[in-house]
Amino acid sequence: MIGSIIDGQDFNASDNSLHVTNPYNGEAIAEIALASDEEFEKAVTSAYETFHQTMKDMPAHERSDILRKTADLMEENTEEFAQTIMEEAGKPIHFSRGEVQRAIQVLRFASEEAKHITGEVIPMDAAIDGDGRLGLVKRFPLGVVAAITPFNFPLNLSLHKIAPAIAAGNTVIFKPAEKTPVSAYKLAKLFHEAGLPGGVLNLLMGTGEIGEGLVTHDKVHKISFTGSLPVGKSIKESAGFKKVTLELGSNSPNIIFNDANINEAAKMLVKGAFSFSGQVCISAQRVYVQKDVYEPFLKEYIKQTEELTIGDPADEDTNIGPMISEDEAKRAKQWIDDATENGAIIEAGGERDGTILQPTIMTNVESNMKIIADEVFAPIVSVIPFDTEEDVIAYSNDSIYGLQAGVFTKNLDRALRVADQLEMGGVWINEISTYRQDNHPYGGVKQSGIGREGVKYAVEDMTEPKFIGFKLKE
Ligand code: NAP
Repeated sequence: MIGSIIDGQDFNASDNSLHVTNPYNGEAIAEIALASDEEFEKAVTSAYETFHQTMKDMPAHERSDILRKTADLMEENTEEFAQTIMEEAGKPIHFSRGEVQRAIQVLRFASEEAKHITGEVIPMDAAIDGDGRLGLVKRFPLGVVAAITPFNFPLNLSLHKIAPAIAAGNTVIFKPAEKTPVSAYKLAKLFHEAGLPGGVLNLLMGTGEIGEGLVTHDKVHKISFTGSLPVGKSIKESAGFKKVTLELGSNSPNIIFNDANINEAAKMLVKGAFSFSGQVCISAQRVYVQKDVYEPFLKEYIKQTEELTIGDPADEDTNIGPMISEDEAKRAKQWIDDATENGAIIEAGGERDGTILQPTIMTNVESNMKIIADEVFAPIVSVIPFDTEEDVIAYSNDSIYGLQAGVFTKNLDRALRVADQLEMGGVWINEISTYRQDNHPYGGVKQSGIGREGVKYAVEDMTEPKFIGFKLKE
């Protein structure tokens, strides 16, 4: 049995436990001891006291060293982490390896960022009466950061919170998704092996209730949450004066103009819509294709989708594995059925077997169908024809979400015009909405979230500027 890690110590004896199973074959992977109320308080106290007693005075070079050593250790253990992600999340093994590589990079970015947290000198004499004064701005850590994370990138998205928090000099309470706690446990162990003092990173195993408790606790200073819109909304409502970063969902549009390379766009969008069975926040969900290339695109897209290999995520050749649970696969299948009852057409896939949903292409869809208006978070994509640039901008922006979009065109003027008009946190030209690098600002507008990650940007959100003024002469 594994459990929480508080003040550097394991807490793995509990009457209350949950079983983690492989979503592909139902095999047991681990038994997790859930944190008691007492352990919850102990973790918060540990994070709070460690911040005041150790972390806020830890020099940048030490924080940087620990992050670099953690990256080195993870590199040595890449395959173990990849196997863990594959088993607990059902992510095909080659994608799991990709996630570990990204996680190592995030640790390295954070190690560098720890040494570049700078301030400002304010031109005080720009103001009337300001001459003879010196103004400095220095950045300080916030204190205790609660990192609440989802199942779909259990390692990398956790590190997008933990690594910048440590780089900035905060302490952390880490509440991973209950479906993927094993990689979280291994990650916390690795940090301690790399020399992180006990109490800087406290791992709490449990359900959403642990998250709720952190959101309202007086000794927690910031909530950094990645997950679904309903939970994000409830966090925002109850967080009071705490700083909040919310990385939520989307129904990402991808736009193909008639001058784009159609075969190349189809190939990229197979990956964009179906990687990890569409359980990616920036998965391509709405593909808008200009009318004169709609038919050839659709034909090529169906052909390439039907070539995907479906099966065991442990197999090297598997492209499509299971969804995270049978309930989720049933929910997604129901959304397909609801759409077809209202006139939508299944062009490829559409069938479910246990936790596996076939990669599904839909056409003849309406903007009010769930598969268009809501976040589908499953291997379902809709292909929709459009006439003009103005039309497709309007269709794309007709959403409560705004995370990332992809635009395919060879016309630079149009690319820049469309990028400016799309209501998104990020726009890629000649790249799928699903592509993300770990060092650019990443986050949403509208109901896709608040704040930005991408190590440097997360560090900004996890520090507070303090003004220090000097009156130098009468
Ligand atoms: P979720 O159900 O919202 O859960 C996310 C985390 O919040 C889990 O650790 C969960 O714990 C916890 N939680 C549940 N209820 C809570 C509450 N009332 N207060 C505080 N925490 C609570 O999301 P998910 O199903 O794991 O992940 C899928 C969602 O994440 C999708 O909507 C996806 O778009 C979004 N996502 C967004 C990004 C981004 O960067 N924008 C990236 C990846 C995923 P339990 O697991 O114990 O329920």
